[in-house]
Amino acid sequence: MSAPVMLGLTLPDVDVWSSRVVVALGQNPGLFTGPGTNTYLVGSGSERILVDTGQGVPAYLPVLEQALARAGCRIQEIALTHGHPDHNGGVAALLDRYGKLRVSKRPHAGFDRACPAPITPIDDGSVLRTEGATLRAVHTPGHAEDHLCFVLEEEQSLFSGDNVLGVGTTVIPSEGGDLGDYLRSLARLQQEAPRVIYPAHGPRIADGVAKLAEYIAHRNAREREILDALRAGLSRIPEIVARVYAAYPVALHGPARQSVCSHLLKLEREGRVRREGAVALEASWSCV
Ligand SMILES: [Zn+2]
Repeated sequence: MSAPVMLGLTLPDVDVWSSRVVVALGQNPGLFTGPGTNTYLVGSGSERILVDTGQGVPAYLPVLEQALARAGCRIQEIALTHGHPDHNGGVAALLDRYGKLRVSKRPHAGFDRACPAPITPIDDGSVLRTEGATLRAVHTPGHAEDHLCFVLEEEQSLFSGDNVLGVGTTVIPSEGGDLGDYLRSLARLQQEAPRVIYPAHGPRIADGVAKLAEYIAHRNAREREILDALRAGLSRIPEIVARVYAAYPVALHGPARQSVCSHLLKLEREGRVRREGAVALEASWSCV
């Protein structure tokens, strides 16, 4: 799940983004996936690690075949950034096509039920190796509790999953998302000082450090705007969205409600706002 503003953006099906990174597009374009989910063949040898598997649409396998031919490799194993369906949905078809492959991710009881293979558990600090590439997992919750990013040590680059996107901003879902965790995850990624970021959706990000700073500044600015709206007397999320997202197409106001809600829940946990009403999206909010 990612950002709706990527609708209309197109990317090639297969592309070489570095001497160690070949991308194969997941063929699942949509409101929340942009041009589709990027899947990555990582390494430089005859067997490489596949990061993410797309949604499981039949059109993906021929594209992956092209990418394998372009890279001149087979799949060594699969690593998943997290358990959302546009990342793990392709696992079943890949196991059907290529036989038994190790599938590694940070375990999550709910998401992993949909995965047809046994999960090899990995977590913060785990390392996956192949010829030419060392991938180190960084636990980065916020978009999803089980979310891992992977540092490619040889490049000081980063596979960011849904935490940082090629275009637009990450959705913090009301189910399983946490904006406070997300901002801490971005700060954690800043410590890695990634040169290049390979996102799960959208194009390669040439300056990873600048993009992380931009993401954090964007969230801070949004928080200020939401607090301003509350101080101006607005209390319901649709009203706040209409003010803060006035410059955006109305089609984006639905996802924007989730985003505003995630900010309000963070501010509530920090004791800076209060609400009347049990359901966050429908509650009446005010500053403390
Ligand atoms: Zn996701």
